[in-house]
Amino acid sequence: MTEGCVFCRIVARESPAEIVYEDEEVLAFKDLYPKAPIHLLIIPKRHIESIAKLEPGDEVVAGHCVRVAQLLAERLGYGERGYRFSSNTGPEGGQVVYHLHFHLTAGRRG
Ligand code: AMP
Ligand code: ZN
Repeated sequence: MTEGCVFCRIVARESPAEIVYEDEEVLAFKDLYPKAPIHLLIIPKRHIESIAKLEPGDEVVAGHCVRVAQLLAERLGYGERGYRFSSNTGPEGGQVVYHLHFHLTAGRRG
C-alpha cells in the first residue's frame, strides 16, 4: 500500500467504496462523483501511478482491467449498446488521483 493513496486505502478497506467487482489483481467500484448514469473505476490493486508509469510486465494487469470493463459492461446491459473506457494521464491529461484507474462510463451519449 502506498501511503496517502486514496485508492490503495480502498483496496485495503480503510476507505469506504461501493465495490462491484474484485479478484486477485483488480478492483472495481463506483465513482464517488459519477459523471454518467454508470460510472465505475477499475483499478489494479497494486499501486501503479498512471499509464505513463507502466513498466514491463504491467501490461498484464492493465489488459486485465480492460477485460473486467468488458465483463462489467456486459453485466450491466451495455455490452452491445456501448460504453466509454478511458484513463486520464498526468497533469495535462486531467489526472487527479495518481493510482492508475480506468473510467467505465455508460448510459449517456458523448
Ligand atoms: P481522475 O484522476 O481525473 O481520473 O479522477 C479521479 C476520479 O476518482 C474522479 O472521477 C473522482 O470522482 C473519483 N474519486 C475520487 N475519490 C474517490 C473515492 N474515494 N471513491 C470513489 N471515487 C473517487
Ligand atoms: Zn495507490
